[in-house]
Amino acid sequence: MTPEEFRRYGHEMVDWIARYWENLENLPVTPDVRPGEVAARLPEQAPETGEDFTAVLADLDRVITPGMAHWQHPAFFGYFPANTSGPSVLGDLVSAGLGVQGMLWSTGPAATEVETVVLDWLADLLDLPKRFRSTSSGGGVIQDSASSAALVATLAALHRAGGGAWRTEGVRREYTVYTSTQAHSSIEKAARIAGIGDRNVRLVEVDEAYAMRPDALRAALDADRAEGRIPALVVATIGTTSTTAVDPLPEIGEICREYGVWLHIDAAYAGAAAVCPELRWSHAGLEYADSYCFDPHKWLLTGFDCDAFWVADRAELVQALTVLPEYLRNAATESGEVIDYRDWQVPLGRRFRALKLWFVLRWYGAEGLREHIRSGVATAQRFAEWVRADERFEIAAPHPFSLVCFRLRDSNASDDSGASDDSDAANDSDAANEELLRRVNATGQAFLTHTRVGGRYVLRLAVGAPSTQERHAAGAWKLIQAAADDLDAG
Ligand code: PLP
Repeated sequence: MTPEEFRRYGHEMVDWIARYWENLENLPVTPDVRPGEVAARLPEQAPETGEDFTAVLADLDRVITPGMAHWQHPAFFGYFPANTSGPSVLGDLVSAGLGVQGMLWSTGPAATEVETVVLDWLADLLDLPKRFRSTSSGGGVIQDSASSAALVATLAALHRAGGGAWRTEGVRREYTVYTSTQAHSSIEKAARIAGIGDRNVRLVEVDEAYAMRPDALRAALDADRAEGRIPALVVATIGTTSTTAVDPLPEIGEICREYGVWLHIDAAYAGAAAVCPELRWSHAGLEYADSYCFDPHKWLLTGFDCDAFWVADRAELVQALTVLPEYLRNAATESGEVIDYRDWQVPLGRRFRALKLWFVLRWYGAEGLREHIRSGVATAQRFAEWVRADERFEIAAPHPFSLVCFRLRDSNASDDSGASDDSDAANDSDAANEELLRRVNATGQAFLTHTRVGGRYVLRLAVGAPSTQERHAAGAWKLIQAAADDLDAG
């Protein structure tokens, strides 16, 4: 493809994306496809000779759009949001065009330095502790995901817990990891990949608000120490996946300090809220953390993949991960004056992801980002009011951010079931909630997901797509009420 051809088709492609965004509201939020249906629309083999690009463009409408769940749809309320935005897409486009591989400072000085500065900016915007800044002992780096951030934190924690022995010996000793029963599965996965194993991950009990109980954490640490195991890492969550519970960092932080354990904070979704001063209460106690991450690709208008990960002491992280083969040696690295981000992550290679974040911060400014978060929170709080006002429903957990967990009440759901005992009634009620969700999603006009809390089936409505307005949440609420009416009518 010549630059001139690229220009022509590139313009068409940008037009296609703009049209897609303009038309999103008219599409069903989730596709009506069966497994294999998309693949069946593709030829069995790759083309022998090159095709005209217009054929590729046509297939976007024929194959891709009808086979997609539309995460940017204003009525997409499932999981957590996966935002993108114009400046983010353009940043990715430039990154792809530059095709830079920024594993070392010397292989992409601007890629490295823009990333360092942008993460310092972001640390300021979230009001993170000073020691996370590159101008202090720490610094930030972009990982592909919060899962990778958890893995890197686990490796650094093992390095610290083993007094350096982990690097040479591996996981010869019994290292342990602590997180709450509500923590994201990526914490257990990281421990497994790091060789710690499921049996040495302690899932600490939570309180009635689904936040980690510090007394239970302490008891677990004591029990392991008494048996000769080495507590390596505590992962606290700001905004758990099921319900957005916030673990009590000040108490957990004190305990980690006392036991000399690495404290990683997973704020994958809710961290973005800290751009708003009124939501920063959730970060109280962050000064105890050794590492912290959140996903701008969830709720800060930056497309996947973009996890912002900070450490308080970059030297510890680099010592844990660095391996310097001859073929990567260069004068800049040896000067000790530069950051080589390859030492801050698992892969060697890395693309220029900071560009999209830089574009987003410059386009929206702090004010624009705050507005986005505030509008999501306000819409979710309004939705919670509607739920509360309908006596058939109940709120299932505190909802400080833009996620509301709710369900049909047991009595309502199981009135006519003839259930013989409490557990039958609970099962019927869970089944009614599941059926309600199925009916709402089947309309294609909104999409919600579910979780289980306290063993019970709960519906989740997460607000955060850039184009979502209150009227879209109101539309979803109407569908939910209509489905409840139908269930009532039998
Ligand atoms: N941590 C929390 C609290 C999450 O909610 C999620 C995803 O929803 C993750 C980690 C994993 O995020 P990622 O896809 O960036 O690995």
